[in-house]
Amino acid sequence: MRLTIIGSSGSFPGPTSPASCYLVEADDFRLVLDMGNGALGALQRYTDIYRVDAVYLSHLHADHCFDLCSYWVARTFPHGGPKPRIPVYGPPGVAGRMAEAYGLDPNPGMAETFEFRELAPGNLRIGPFVVRVGRVNHPVEAFGIRLEHQGSVLTYSGDTGTCDELVELARDADLFLCEASFHDHREHPKDMHLTGSEAGEHAQRAGAEKLVLTHLVPWNDNECTLDEAQGTFDGAIDLARPGKVYEISGAADWRDRA
Ligand SMILES: [Zn+2]
Ligand SMILES: [Zn+2]
Repeated sequence: MRLTIIGSSGSFPGPTSPASCYLVEADDFRLVLDMGNGALGALQRYTDIYRVDAVYLSHLHADHCFDLCSYWVARTFPHGGPKPRIPVYGPPGVAGRMAEAYGLDPNPGMAETFEFRELAPGNLRIGPFVVRVGRVNHPVEAFGIRLEHQGSVLTYSGDTGTCDELVELARDADLFLCEASFHDHREHPKDMHLTGSEAGEHAQRAGAEKLVLTHLVPWNDNECTLDEAQGTFDGAIDLARPGKVYEISGAADWRDRA
């Protein structure tokens, strides 16, 4: 499977990146993980947005879901009529929240364009992917996701503080895309986000092959985040940046298309 970083900015868009958005492709199926502010514009550089087959929203903070509003416009009102409904996976209440975000009457809200499917911890199938989702540690209900395809494993943390469930989701992952929003040396609230060293610790405990740090907040020093993670994780580490493409196989490798 192939992962393309569309947006890796944490909490709000940065000068060179939209907020969270990742494109995962396998067997000609396109799954978008999160659609934060600014993501829909950048997504068009990497795929035809009408060839997206499913969207997954890890949680309902603006920096992970607000561009679904723009995507609703793009699918509902194009020349030639509405595009076919596609599934949107998200936490309980996702349909109502997205309707409210756009200012739509909740009935039908966006339901004629998106088939909303509410997440619950456990296993599911999305296109060619064998998927497991689990609750992670964030002030609102939030999910981490593990995607398996032909023996390769990609795990995405979404937003989370320290969390045993995240270690299980990332167990032996070929690529662990993990948030690292905080710095060790700054005061920060508990049960919200990870520091670079905490992301590294989770990757180390999980036995992940590679760690890609994301949700990089514009006011942070990314090199500091990388240093923190290198102190706790023995494997290869990269910083997620828009345009980076990772070909994930049983033995993960990557190349930079940016
Ligand atoms: Zn976030
Ligand atoms: Zn969040």
